[in-house]
Amino acid sequence: MPDAALDLLRHTFGHPAFRGEQAQIIDQLVAGGDALVLMPTGGGKSLCYQLPALLRAGCGIVISPLIALMQDQVEALHQLGVRAAYLNSTLDAAAAADVERALLAGELDLLYIAPERLLTARCMDLLDRASIALFAIDEAHCVSQWGHDFRPEYRKLTVLHERWPEVPRIALTATADTPTRNEIAERLSLGDARQFVSSFDRPNIRYRVVHKDGGTRQLLDFLLTHRGDSGIVYAFSRKRVDSTAEQLRAAGIDALPYHAGMDAATRAANQRRFLQEDGVVMVATIAFGMGIDKPDVRFVAHIDLPKSIEGYYQETGRAGRDGEPAEAWLAYGLGDVVNLRQLINQGEAGAERKQLELRKLDALLGFCESTGCRRQSLLGWFGEGHPGACGNCDNCLEPPHSWDGTEAARKALSCVYRTGQRFGAAHVIDVLRGSETEKVAKFGHERLSTWGIGSDLDARQWSGVFRQLVAGGLLEADVERHGALCFTAETAAVLRGERTLLFRTEAPKPERRRRDRAG
Ligand code: ADP
Ligand code: ZN
Repeated sequence: MPDAALDLLRHTFGHPAFRGEQAQIIDQLVAGGDALVLMPTGGGKSLCYQLPALLRAGCGIVISPLIALMQDQVEALHQLGVRAAYLNSTLDAAAAADVERALLAGELDLLYIAPERLLTARCMDLLDRASIALFAIDEAHCVSQWGHDFRPEYRKLTVLHERWPEVPRIALTATADTPTRNEIAERLSLGDARQFVSSFDRPNIRYRVVHKDGGTRQLLDFLLTHRGDSGIVYAFSRKRVDSTAEQLRAAGIDALPYHAGMDAATRAANQRRFLQEDGVVMVATIAFGMGIDKPDVRFVAHIDLPKSIEGYYQETGRAGRDGEPAEAWLAYGLGDVVNLRQLINQGEAGAERKQLELRKLDALLGFCESTGCRRQSLLGWFGEGHPGACGNCDNCLEPPHSWDGTEAARKALSCVYRTGQRFGAAHVIDVLRGSETEKVAKFGHERLSTWGIGSDLDARQWSGVFRQLVAGGLLEADVERHGALCFTAETAAVLRGERTLLFRTEAPKPERRRRDRAG
């Protein structure tokens, strides 16, 4: 590493040492090579192109899809005394002309450009006349049509390589499983680039998954363990956000709502309070969080299941960016699985895409129901091996008990069959437990051979059985019929006694857990 790089790191950026693979990445670019960088959020990606841009002759061109982030970055660079600017649709003609003049005069170290702007003939022309240190393609996963942030214009960025073959390029992303990574390399013609894949582990985040028992009590109990902390509570819908924020406020918590249905001014004000003050709890849909860089977020709670394991990783990754202990808490139940399957199935996406989304949801369910180390299961999805026994997830800290649920599953499945595969879990549980409800009477279900065969387990335990059957793909919630449970291709093997099933023992009652934690 040249002394000049260390000097810049310390005196311009104010960091004592490089982190992770930053030094190697910077070396690669300074030497004129290409790089593909996978680093988790908060890992320090920006420095990987900012510093080489300062070391090489000319201006570093950064392609970034998020206009708000561009402005933040440029402001932060100005504070460090770096000559940076951006070109995007928020500038008027005069301001843009100023930036162009500065670029041509060699007065800029870094220039951020939105991809659609870069691809215009005018901008290409401008770059032809400028001296370019490097191209940085931020959020490179936007090139993948399978990702959630697909941007068609990213596909056209191969022009960088074709038009300026001698300029080194660096593509960066925080989200990419192995197939996406290969797609990025291919689509951006970075086949020969050196790949730098950092560990995605966030050792300071403690993962915890609990089963929903309805109501806000559970969340309030969790928040009691984080009194005065800043945190984010993610909910599935705007309605849930509004009602949860209200309930938390009523309980004396400094909670604010955030979702796309609110007016822009209130949203911005809430975001500002969250960023600037201590101890604000933001209750939000996933509309909140992209580009939020608050280092001391102490917890991220999901009161509904996220849409995919990647989404879960991204959202929980906003906790503990300062490296101090933080907690990721997720409460989920059967209703979530039904909702999300429904959302995917009824979506506009094509069959292939739906299959993929269902697979990602299944991966998340596997994570939720796992009795092993959560970290191992989470990192496994990103193709990263982890030995397990991390010592910082619920399963490692309090190993769950499991029980042989083969017999219970058979009873449950028979009862689903006898009631005609037309009902949701609540009613089937009533039948199993021999409850005399109105609905049971209406359908004459007390006359079924399966009525009352499940009185050995309580409703909570049965609910766990059904949740795990659905999570494991042994039952399916029929979207067309309001979540009625029905058989899948896998079900028969259980009924024939060909499969043994191990189920997680349901967590003890919340009261006891609270005392446990306090002690
Ligand atoms: P990313 O883009 O990967 O999410 P950033 O580039 O925004 O991450 O960096 C995250 C935080 O880490 C920033 O606050 C940044 O100042 C800090 N950081 C980056 N590199 C270092 C380093 N070598 N030492 C200390 N802090 C660093
Ligand atoms: Zn663990």
